Amino acid sequence: MITATNISKRFGDLEVLKNIDFNVETGKVVVIIGPSGSGKTTLLRCLNLLEQPEEGSLTIDRQTIDFHEKIPKKSIRGFRRLSGMVFQTYNLFPHFTAAENVMEGPVTVQKVPKAKAREKATEILAKVGLKDKVDTHPHQLSGGQQQRVGIARAMAIDPKVMLFDEPTSALDPELIGEVLRVMKQLAEEGRTMVVVTHEMNFAKEVADEVIFMDEGLVVERGSPTDVFENPQEERTKRFLNLLK
Ligand code: ADP
Repeated sequence: MITATNISKRFGDLEVLKNIDFNVETGKVVVIIGPSGSGKTTLLRCLNLLEQPEEGSLTIDRQTIDFHEKIPKKSIRGFRRLSGMVFQTYNLFPHFTAAENVMEGPVTVQKVPKAKAREKATEILAKVGLKDKVDTHPHQLSGGQQQRVGIARAMAIDPKVMLFDEPTSALDPELIGEVLRVMKQLAEEGRTMVVVTHEMNFAKEVADEVIFMDEGLVVERGSPTDVFENPQEERTKRFLNLLK
């Protein structure tokens, strides 16, 4: 579903991603772990073209973008629709209800009629356990509920891939579980997901593959058992030891 080849990204003099190759098969969940500043979020944002690498190419669902070439705005918009991004800080519109937040993409980007979009938004919100919060504004929702609206919003455009950028790191501990449960449910439904997280138990339980990044490189990748119980690289061992 996703093939990223030779992705390099710098911010000024800082080389944040160094020739990364990365692929995700359809229906699989890939969890990216690693120390703060290792480039996890940047890699995820490159998959959604929120950041543009200087080098490499990216294919999602058979559509390819070559970063050596100038990419037309229209292609960027089209490509972005292939993935749904869930942000650490939800980024909901405060003046919109839950349903309006979820409908926004389909109505403005996909030109879906409002009534139809609302019907679908209601369905998706029910799926993430927010059937009774459809007409509630974000400030009346807990952080966990807001993040579930964030997930519903990402699902509303029927993306081929769901990208999660530390979706629980802004939440109080007691609210993390409800968000992880929704994510687990999506994984069980066979959605293709890439998740940046510090929730190692989620990675162990849900990931098909774990990628350990450090200093802009993929240092190690493998099944959760491989990476957590039998890490091969010193840097992976050091990182996992620090978590103990
Ligand atoms: P991680 O998600 O692993 O914590 P990030 O991808 O957020 O890492 O960041 C990797 C590095 O890139 C860090 O050193 C960070 O400070 C830097 N960085 C990230 N975004 C920007 C930006 N927009 N401008 C400049 N530097 C950035």
